[in-house]
Amino acid sequence: ASARFLAARPKTVALHEAAKAVMPGGNTRTVLFTPPVPIRVAKAEGAHVTDVDGFTYVDLLGEYSAGLYGHSHPRIGRAVGDALAMGLNLGAHHAGEVRLAEAVTRRFDLDLVRFTNSGTEANMMALAAARAFTGRQKIMGIKAGYHGGTLYFGAGGAAVNAPFDVVLAPFNDITATRKLITEHGPALAALIIEPMLGSGGCLPADRAYLEMLREETRKHGIILIFDEVMTSRLAPKGLSHALGITPDLKTLGKYIGGGMSFGAFGGRRDIMEQFDPTRANFLPHAGTFNNNTLTMTVGFAALDEIFTPAACLDLNRRGDRLRERINDLFMRYQVAVQAKGIGSLINIHPLAGEINAPEATAKADPRLRQLLYLDLLEEGYYIAGRGYMALSLVVSDEHCDGFLAALDKVVTKRRHLLT
Ligand code: PMP
Repeated sequence: ASARFLAARPKTVALHEAAKAVMPGGNTRTVLFTPPVPIRVAKAEGAHVTDVDGFTYVDLLGEYSAGLYGHSHPRIGRAVGDALAMGLNLGAHHAGEVRLAEAVTRRFDLDLVRFTNSGTEANMMALAAARAFTGRQKIMGIKAGYHGGTLYFGAGGAAVNAPFDVVLAPFNDITATRKLITEHGPALAALIIEPMLGSGGCLPADRAYLEMLREETRKHGIILIFDEVMTSRLAPKGLSHALGITPDLKTLGKYIGGGMSFGAFGGRRDIMEQFDPTRANFLPHAGTFNNNTLTMTVGFAALDEIFTPAACLDLNRRGDRLRERINDLFMRYQVAVQAKGIGSLINIHPLAGEINAPEATAKADPRLRQLLYLDLLEEGYYIAGRGYMALSLVVSDEHCDGFLAALDKVVTKRRHLLT
């Protein structure tokens, strides 16, 4: 499959070689590296991307959930124009940031919010806020939790790249995590968790696990942070709201900026007020692009007019239906493959049996993941190398039907490897 992929794409290969001369491994965004070489997109429109060799794919990756609106949405285009007309680099406050802050706080039940340029920064700032508020230093994360380039907690239990003293708990393991919280409680400023592991394979947290975290963190004075950078799209007010569990702080990102660079953190007034610059000893939080007119204008239009609560519910129903049909197909062929996730976020794992923690998904053969990825590309469907998909609003029933037909073909061809 690899050899065929390379032979058909001379321009992709040449560009990868050129990239390697100036970027390590030809790469400036680790997640996009997929062997043998990643695709290079020349143009995107609606639900499709076309690579530099002229192959067009249905885009089911959806920019890892940030590409919620599809490519070149006309309303997004108009909002970009509005921002340009207003001026891009004002060096001043403006009405756009107030409007977006009103929309975001209302939508996600936050007392106060602050904007950043990425989900990574939002999480760094939320953790800084928790540390200042509690006067404690340590943070607890979840094994295989992903909170950004500088906050990645390896599946093996090592804190990779994390600039904090981190204690890692096993996802969905109530007994072990409760014990760790009790043990480290007095030193812990914050506990940060995705209510569904996104990068970790679209594995939902059990409600009982999250309820335990809420109860234990409250008991020990630890700030509970839900990283909803990915999961906020899974319900009109985000996943934590749908689950009925209220963290102290939430972090947001991805699609909320309408496809522009975006991040936000917010929640409890008493914690967020630390950033009020009129207060003595306030916490500084700077950033040249925090209130950039592009993100503020486009984000507001997208949230207010496109990703309405009704659109959110409709998209997630579509995702649930697709995941069910994918799993029915695997069941029919009796292959050791399954799809996990909630609503519009899906991850296909070449594995049999119950998966409710990343320790299980780590057992999947990476060569099988790669094969599924390359086979699906050949059929004209683009998903992430690790099997992840994020449906955008322009993915239609026809695209879903086409994907299932392609998957049927791939599974038929590779059945001997997948049982
Ligand atoms: N948190 C989660 C749950 C994420 O999925 C991501 C991005 N994949 C981030 C944080 C980091 O966001 P960004 O890439 O915008 O820094």
